[in-house]
Amino acid sequence: KGPDPDLVAIAERMATVKHKILILSGKGGVGKSTFSAQLSFALASLDFQVGLLDIDICGPSIPKMLGLEGQDIHQSNLGWSPIYVESNLGVMSVGFMLPNPDEAVIWRGPRKNGLIKQFLKDVHWGELDFLVVDAPPGTSDEHISIVQFLQATGIDGAIIVTTPQQVSLIDVRKEVSFCKKVGVEVLGVVENMSGLSQPLTDFKFKVFDSSAGGAAEMCQEMGVPFLGKVPLDPQLCKAAEEGRSCFEGQSCRVSAPVLRGMIEKL
Ligand code: ADP
Repeated sequence: KGPDPDLVAIAERMATVKHKILILSGKGGVGKSTFSAQLSFALASLDFQVGLLDIDICGPSIPKMLGLEGQDIHQSNLGWSPIYVESNLGVMSVGFMLPNPDEAVIWRGPRKNGLIKQFLKDVHWGELDFLVVDAPPGTSDEHISIVQFLQATGIDGAIIVTTPQQVSLIDVRKEVSFCKKVGVEVLGVVENMSGLSQPLTDFKFKVFDSSAGGAAEMCQEMGVPFLGKVPLDPQLCKAAEEGRSCFEGQSCRVSAPVLRGMIEKL
């Protein structure tokens, strides 16, 4: 039996992509897509060629977050063309393939895996420095697939996004364990929605604080890097709602410097 033709096709496609980073979270709603989008914007602002791939089949939020709702995917003889939000930032989302954003997607595992495979095989990214993959929350079929498909061509590692709450941190442990089991390096953990800062004073409301030591302590215990804390920032939320980068001008005074610092650590 020869090599799997799909894996060969993925390897060919990914041969022009230097780095692949998976963005994971244990739970939904912790800011995984926001981080994926802002990481992509930040890398693009540093003049890297960036691709952002959203494979959250049941809840693709990247099109909305980047102001790309209702866009259609164009096909050429080179494959599916990503939609460009900057000249060096192309986006592909399962959301572009769904007829109605309000309709529930009730697909079983094999169909989801088929679509992920197709994304990796058929999207014409061209030369990329970074491919940022926004995965669904949890550790499901889709995660095993994306890791298996990407591992054939090398994957740099995963970034895990969490909030400071125990309920979210418990699931981060599962994500770290998943990464260890499948042999994906944890590049770091981001604690998002970590307090609410008042821009004009130093006072910080610990909105989601818990009695536990938060993500930093957990990282130390589990032997994985801690990337830092992003506060709850109404401006960051607004940037995501309006589909723009939080690094533009003075828009996110509180969160943008923190995010930039984290990204430099990678
Ligand atoms: P996930 O991808 O984990 O489901 P999202 O990235 O969709 O989560 O974020 C959920 C909501 O929280 C979005 O409306 C987003 O704008 C908002 N959000 C995420 N992070 C922050 C933050 N640090 N400050 C303010 N709002 C945030």
